[in-house]
Amino acid sequence: MKFKLIILLLMTNTLYAQSTIPESIKEEIEIALSYYPDLKNTPINFEFKKKIKKSTMQAQPSIGSFFRKKGNRSYNIYISETVNISGEVLFTKNMPRDVLIGWIGHELGHVMDYRNRSNLNLIWFGFKYLLSDNHIAEAERSADTFAVKSGMEKYILITKDFILSQANIDKKYIARIKKYYLSPEEIMDIINKRDSELSKS
Ligand SMILES: [Zn+2]
Repeated sequence: MKFKLIILLLMTNTLYAQSTIPESIKEEIEIALSYYPDLKNTPINFEFKKKIKKSTMQAQPSIGSFFRKKGNRSYNIYISETVNISGEVLFTKNMPRDVLIGWIGHELGHVMDYRNRSNLNLIWFGFKYLLSDNHIAEAERSADTFAVKSGMEKYILITKDFILSQANIDKKYIARIKKYYLSPEEIMDIINKRDSELSKS
C-alpha cells in the first residue's frame, strides 16, 4: 500500500515538475533552448540513459501527460550516455560543445513538431514512424527544419559535419544520415527563405 502511494507521488511529481536538466550538459541545453522561445513554458525532462536503440538522443511526449490537452503536455528527451563513433566509445557529455548543442537543437525541433499535433495525430505519427522509412525521413527533416528556422543552422551543420567526417564511419550509417536528414543545400534553401521572409516583415 505504502509502495503504491510512493509510486503515485513520484508520478504526480514528474507530471508537474518543471524541466529537469542534467548538470553535466546544462550549458549546452540552455544554449539550445534559448533558440526556442516558444518552448519557454513547456516542461522538458532531459535524461541520460545507458543505451537508446539505434540513436543517440530521442524526444517523445511523456506518457503521463499524453492524454492532456496538447498545450499542457510535457516531453522527455533521452540522451544515450555513450556514443559509438568509428568503433570508439565516447561519453556523450564529452562531445564537442557545438556538436552537442546541434544535437539537442534537433531534438527540440521534434518537440516543436509534436506540440502542434493532436493526441490522435501523434499516435498515428508514432505508428507511421515505426512502419515507414519515408515517414522517418519526413519526421527527421521536419525536426531539422524547425531547428534551422529557429536560427540553429550553424550548430546543425557542425553536428552533421562531425558525424560524417569521422574516419572509419560505417557506410550504412552515412547512407542513413543522407536519406533521413536535410542536406547542407536544403539547409541553405531554408535559411534563404527564412531570411527573405524576415526582410519582408
Ligand atoms: Zn531526430
